[in-house]
Amino acid sequence: MLEINGAEGGGQLLRSALTLSLCTGTPFRMHGIRAGRSKPGLMRQHLTAVLAAAEIGGADVTGAALGAQDLVFVPGAVRGGDYRFSIGTAGSTTLVLQTLLPALCAAAEPSTVVLEGGTHNPMAPPADFLIQAYAPLLRQMGVDVGIELQRYGFYPAGGGRLSVAIRPAALQPLTLLARGACRSRNACALISAVPSTVAERELAAVARRLGYADAELAHRALRPAAGPGNVLSVTLQFEHVTEVFVGFGERGIRAEAVAERVCEQVEAYVKSGAAVGPHLADQLLLPLALAGGGQFTTTAPTDHLTTNAALIEKFVAVDIQIEKVDSARNCWQVSVSRY
Ligand code: ATP
Repeated sequence: MLEINGAEGGGQLLRSALTLSLCTGTPFRMHGIRAGRSKPGLMRQHLTAVLAAAEIGGADVTGAALGAQDLVFVPGAVRGGDYRFSIGTAGSTTLVLQTLLPALCAAAEPSTVVLEGGTHNPMAPPADFLIQAYAPLLRQMGVDVGIELQRYGFYPAGGGRLSVAIRPAALQPLTLLARGACRSRNACALISAVPSTVAERELAAVARRLGYADAELAHRALRPAAGPGNVLSVTLQFEHVTEVFVGFGERGIRAEAVAERVCEQVEAYVKSGAAVGPHLADQLLLPLALAGGGQFTTTAPTDHLTTNAALIEKFVAVDIQIEKVDSARNCWQVSVSRY
């Protein structure tokens, strides 16, 4: 049984451990789950991830309760099938989905998964990111994953829905060193039960700072039934990869400030010349390790990337190297290889 100190990371450490345990058949015990966070232990989203992982993997679990900081997870066999998971709050559906996806990709049978909760949460991949940036890379690695956003769910109202179809196949190594030529770039300001001037001001700020033309700016209003929400996203489509950067409108934060934060992320990524941005980097590592290898270039390594790398090396016989390749542009290369 692998012993893991949960205090070395946050929710991601737990979710990655669940995925790796399901995919390798290795049981683990994690203590000090999210010990450094202001509300430590399992929150609703983490608990749903544990229960969902146990359900698809026929696992025996001890300690699956809200607030728990100690968990034992003993996986069984992963079974494909038709699953439905409801987080019950605006907890992130995308984080729960990412916990399950690599395991369901390796199952003997196809799966469908419906997830209900938040689809656009701060500090989690928004559904658009999963659909446009993450899933296409899994498809490049050989698995057929289709993700549909059926209903938006914003924090704190929730009520969103994702529907996912997975046709399993063995993951193949991926090499993504260059992003290739730019095919399109656009900014979209999404609002729900928020004044349209918010979207207009965000887009004007993007146009000023990034020089986007009118045709590259879109303003989308959802029916207010989705609850109040505002997401500004910039999508950059290249020959080999698509990246999505987002910012969330918040009470007390000016629309221009939301736009500036998104523009900063876009500028750092564009300047680096790297293939993938910081979020895609920490999320790609696990599928690459399960595929037995691969490499990509990225921007400066984050704590999420290095913590995930250290955890993955405990479960899978791979060596993960993270090296700077261009100081001036702050471009790094991540290489995963079997030993
Ligand atoms: P905790 O509350 O313990 O910090 P958590 O369960 O909320 O944990 P994290 O451990 O912070 O989650 O992991 C968040 C994951 O969401 C990371 O993989 C991170 O890259 C990803 N993520 C956060 N923001 C974005 C974004 N804007 N776009 C894409 N992915 C994102």
